[in-house]
Amino acid sequence: MRFEMAEKPGFMVGSGKRGAAAVLALGLAFAAPGQGAAQPVPSVVATVGMIADVAASLAGECVAVQAMMGPGTDPHLYRPTSRDVRMMREADAIFHVGFGLEGALGDVLDGLQGRVTTLAVAPAAVPEAELLRADPEDFAYGVDPHLWMDVRLWSMTVAALSEALSDLAPDCADEIAAAAEDYRARLAALHAWVGDSIATIPEGHRALVTAHDAFAYYARAYGIDEVAIQGLSTESEASIADIREAAEAVATRGVPAVFIETTINPRTIEALLDAVRNRGHAARIGGALYSDAMGDTGTRDGTYIGMIIANTRTITAALGGTVPDLPAPVAQWLEARGFAID
Ligand SMILES: [Zn+2]
Repeated sequence: MRFEMAEKPGFMVGSGKRGAAAVLALGLAFAAPGQGAAQPVPSVVATVGMIADVAASLAGECVAVQAMMGPGTDPHLYRPTSRDVRMMREADAIFHVGFGLEGALGDVLDGLQGRVTTLAVAPAAVPEAELLRADPEDFAYGVDPHLWMDVRLWSMTVAALSEALSDLAPDCADEIAAAAEDYRARLAALHAWVGDSIATIPEGHRALVTAHDAFAYYARAYGIDEVAIQGLSTESEASIADIREAAEAVATRGVPAVFIETTINPRTIEALLDAVRNRGHAARIGGALYSDAMGDTGTRDGTYIGMIIANTRTITAALGGTVPDLPAPVAQWLEARGFAID
């Protein structure tokens, strides 16, 4: 299955427009192949693209998967529109990350309890021992929700998602299980490649400086230090003290590049660069990373695999490493979808 953009007024691809409604829709939502009469298939609403894309990769044509938040949308701040609420109410199931990522959605999801099946994907899939704890003073939920940044951990969601999808479409259970096995193998190859790529960065430059704390799982999994100006959520503004502290770290280590995020105003990072310059060190913007949303719908970066590749290439190149060729299972996956591999 492939995502197609819903023909909805007001939706702009890649505009970063907050509050954009339904983004990805399955072209065959209401017609099973080979059948004359319209045969509705079960429908799922996923809050973020990172879940929608994985779910759609497993669902084939058996379940229609829609993503609620589009490219450039910050899930911490996202407030559902009345159309979103209607979409969730009419869905057969709602998949969300959980652990407080979708801060403002909590009340809506609570209100739908018992009416629509909801699956908090991360708590369902990832064992406690793998979770990074958060200071409850910084982030009330106590767990860092940015689990998609570690491909090994995110591949654990495949089991939970395929189970939930098979419950919705029992006739497709075998197909979904086969797709899950295939997709997991691609992710295993991707995970190894990310580690190999980061390992090419000179050791002293292995520091990932971003505006908000979305990369702790990435940092732990792939051997790079994370320096974030803001905490786990973007719900409060970065303070001058936060910026000063990060600037000190960048200047002291001589980090050559820092990164903006596609879901966050670059102002904070620009303030950081000013503060770094005041300390007599020159750093530059190394590129934009996909932190809490994927790239534009229909592009390579608009897939989970593509998002991880793009981030890893940007980080590796900006910090002085050499990006290795993609492993065959990943390259084949991209080519099968008509995406370039370099
Ligand atoms: Zn975040």
